[in-house]
Amino acid sequence: MNRDEIRNYLEFYRDLGVKNLYKRSSPVAEIATAVEEPLLPSLLPSLAPPGDTLAKIIEDIGDCRRCRLCEQRSKIVFGSGNEQSRLVFVGEGPGADEDEQGLPFVGRAGQLLTQMIENTASKEGIPIRRADVYICNVVKCRPPENRTPQPDEMEICGQFLFRQLMAIRPRAICALGSTAAKALLAAKDGVTRLRGQWHKWRDIPVMVTYHPSYLLRPYNQDAKRQAWEDLKKVLHYVYD
Ligand code: URA
Repeated sequence: MNRDEIRNYLEFYRDLGVKNLYKRSSPVAEIATAVEEPLLPSLLPSLAPPGDTLAKIIEDIGDCRRCRLCEQRSKIVFGSGNEQSRLVFVGEGPGADEDEQGLPFVGRAGQLLTQMIENTASKEGIPIRRADVYICNVVKCRPPENRTPQPDEMEICGQFLFRQLMAIRPRAICALGSTAAKALLAAKDGVTRLRGQWHKWRDIPVMVTYHPSYLLRPYNQDAKRQAWEDLKKVLHYVYD
């Protein structure tokens, strides 16, 4: 592995918010040590391989057992929508309905997301439906009790999110809530500060907005209005 490839690895993890590198003792490490290969390249999971596709990523995920989230999941929730979409929405992780169906954003928060996309698009005269965009999550398995994914779970699953985004190469990404914002931007600020402005994940513009679950809570009228404004910006940027 050359210097550029190593730099790519390190930038990828920095973008995910990973601050420390540590050595895992794995069979790969033992083999690498035995043949006196440099450790770093063989210890890190591979970046987007050339000619990567969503089908190949699903194949690589397989019946994933890479982190503890596999223990209680029913189905891996990879993502859904138009694989050539110009716009990708990234949420946090599957909830109960998603875990049961194997599809992202199909519960109450998902219904609100669908309404937000379709109503905003229709009001703004942009001819798209939910099926025209791509939707996925930072982690692909439901965290128990819908807890926030832990940093190591985000790190392990982040490699697949990264490959999804690289394979689709959308014109823009919309990060829904603080977990998605953290995963993509490695930002410490909360959604309230990050939302409404453009950020970047690698060279792709990212808009952060409130997670639909947050908007479902009562008394969040202001946040709802702001989320609609954010979405309008994204849709015009991508589809005008
Ligand atoms: N919340 C998420 O973040 N993702 C889903 O798929 C559903 C709810």
